[in-house]
Amino acid sequence: MDCLFCKIVNGSIPATIVKQTEKITAFNDISPQAPTHILIIPNIHFENMGKLSEADEKLSGEMLREASAIAKDLGLDSWRININTGASAGQSVFHAHIHLLGGRTFAWPPG
Ligand code: 5GP
Ligand code: ZN
Repeated sequence: MDCLFCKIVNGSIPATIVKQTEKITAFNDISPQAPTHILIIPNIHFENMGKLSEADEKLSGEMLREASAIAKDLGLDSWRININTGASAGQSVFHAHIHLLGGRTFAWPPG
């Protein structure tokens, strides 16, 4: 499948990998929106987090657990997890992912 994030998982496109397990890959976003901006993705392809959650509740939970573990490892005391699902919510890469953002103050509500 011609998917950018599948290629990052299999190493055919380079990325700065923060953590990789049997289930997930975490890597720095190429266009960071905060001092820490990491993407956590499943190693297998799902179009978005909604589809993944419906298909595999355990894996979606695992991704959230990994995001929190990475935030803790980095010593962040505040962080934001963002999931864009669908183009009008800002999704631009159609392989499920969680954004982990930290290191600055965030506004609410988001834009
Ligand atoms: P979305 O907009 O789908 O929620 O998030 C996709 C994210 O992927 C964006 O924040 C974008 O900067 C990031 N991204 C797009 N292409 C690449 C790439 O080739 N490498 C990395 N590391 N991140 C990418
Ligand atoms: Zn993919």
